[in-house]
Amino acid sequence: MTVITITKTELSDGLAALRKGYKLFGPVAEKSSYTFRELEKDRDPDFSYQNTRLSPKGIVFPQSEDMFTYTLDSTREDAHFLKEAPKDYSPRVIFGIRPCDAKAVSLTRMNFDTRAYRDPYWMGLFEATTFVGMACDTPCQTCFCTTAGCGPYHEEGLDVLISDRGDHYLAKPLSEKGRQLLAVAGWLKPAEADFDKNKAAAEAKIGSSVATDRLASADTLALYGADFWEDISFACINCGTCTFVCPTCWCFDIQDEVHGKTGKRARNWDSCMFPIFTIHTTGHNPRGTKLHRVRQRFMHKLKYFVGKYEAGIMCVGCGRCIRACPVNIDIRNVCGLMNSRAAENVCAEGK
Ligand code: SF4
Ligand code: SF4
Repeated sequence: MTVITITKTELSDGLAALRKGYKLFGPVAEKSSYTFRELEKDRDPDFSYQNTRLSPKGIVFPQSEDMFTYTLDSTREDAHFLKEAPKDYSPRVIFGIRPCDAKAVSLTRMNFDTRAYRDPYWMGLFEATTFVGMACDTPCQTCFCTTAGCGPYHEEGLDVLISDRGDHYLAKPLSEKGRQLLAVAGWLKPAEADFDKNKAAAEAKIGSSVATDRLASADTLALYGADFWEDISFACINCGTCTFVCPTCWCFDIQDEVHGKTGKRARNWDSCMFPIFTIHTTGHNPRGTKLHRVRQRFMHKLKYFVGKYEAGIMCVGCGRCIRACPVNIDIRNVCGLMNSRAAENVCAEGK
């Protein structure tokens, strides 16, 4: 595939051209961190970020999204009828998404785009979006992507991958959507360059890792009943931060909100770490303690997902939950405990 070279000036000019056909989202500095925002005119993405505090998953899966509107005014003919909320599925580009976050979109697609059901809202935004990745040459200390089925130059889920070469960029088109975007931006100059030249060095900077090799074959009930959940969950305050920052978490709740006689039905991000996440109308809560909830989060990501989809763990190693957890619960340690316990089970069975 032809690699394209883009000077820094050409980048700004191309972004201006893209704005005519796309909504442009990119990383910007905000308070003490970085976040993805729609970039207003004349504002370019800020590539000095390592990674953003929240992933850009909200561009495809908004934190709060209206599904229907209705009126309770019985003098109106349309009283109590649900009407589709207005939607905007015009073309958009996420410019500068990290490869881990793009792979996370591919993992969440397994939930929203199935043979039995295609979520129209998620699919509408996903299909409208072109994903332009920025390779990650300065990973965070908590990144472990290379052992989570990903990496700083990973291409899965991307339409274009860009590598910063100091005084210029190299762009590698990875799909037809990506080639179209490069054409609209006017970035068409072929480069005689090795795109992956910095890949091995970037991978070598990933300082931490997880062992996952025994998770698939581990006995589910043995892991579920393991004695380490008490220790792991002890400090958790069920704040839900780990799930909100996670690019692969997809849970939502549907709520009706009524103001006067006007109502709307919206879906909002939810978290398996919240005590009311699974509460029944009877008052019974099958995950009534924090041990249940913490175990559910890790069993889902590191065991149930692995068995159901055969696509590795439901984690891309971005390290956000490690950095954000107020009580230092670390998925690398939990994964290690689960993987070693699986190894112990195999040894015990072999005796
Ligand atoms: S961020 Fe930490 S304390 Fe908060 S719910 Fe997650 S594991 Fe528990
Ligand atoms: S579980 Fe943690 S490290 Fe893994 S993708 Fe989610 S936020 Fe990143």
